[in-house]
Amino acid sequence: MMPTELEIGGRIVPVVLTRRASQRAVRLRASAVAGHIEISLPARGSEDIGAALLNSHRAWLEAQVARWPRPIPFAPGFIIPIDGEPVLIDWQETHKRTPVLVDACLRIGGPLPLLAGRIERWLKARALADLDTSTRQIAAQLDRKVARVSVGDTTSRWGSCAGALRPEGARIAYSWRLILAPAWVRRSLVAHEAAHLIHQNHSPAFHALNRQLDPRAGEARRWLARHGAALHWVGRAIQPE
Ligand SMILES: [Zn+2]
Repeated sequence: MMPTELEIGGRIVPVVLTRRASQRAVRLRASAVAGHIEISLPARGSEDIGAALLNSHRAWLEAQVARWPRPIPFAPGFIIPIDGEPVLIDWQETHKRTPVLVDACLRIGGPLPLLAGRIERWLKARALADLDTSTRQIAAQLDRKVARVSVGDTTSRWGSCAGALRPEGARIAYSWRLILAPAWVRRSLVAHEAAHLIHQNHSPAFHALNRQLDPRAGEARRWLARHGAALHWVGRAIQPE
């Protein structure tokens, strides 16, 4: 039988089982972004094979999980990154309910059970305002139309650009978590998606335009490769020990 979770290095790690008809072999993956272990089996593969693979790769799993970021909940006294800078969640019931960012503190009040949701909504709104403004600025420079800028909670991509050739303009979407990253990293994502308004591919011409819009493109990619997974652990609850 396949376990639904494993204890690895003091952490309870969910095990997710997927089946793919097109797949021939069993695959084992430890996702630092999702914080789970994924076993994917061929359509008729037996769960025992998956369970055996988990057992035989125990040391490998331990090493992977040890490198995963730690969760940072939206809870009083925790420090979250905003624009890449540490910010203390300063909650007191009597503070104003609408968050205020002052001197590396996010001052916020209201009932404690509503705190996490309120911080997340505030961060999303802040992300959208920032990304919408900067996307439209670059689009105007390039003389291209943008129909809509939105934010979501994607795990596979930080940004996407669709419908660049439509008369009403493109739809550009970002991960709201970019508001946690330094502003120059966020700008880099904006420059990348804006460059897609002209080139709907990753051709040399695209990269030339991208570098022109953002000389730090390579540096930002490296920053996200190194720190990106941790952004997905912000606002995640800490497991009971
Ligand atoms: Zn792209």
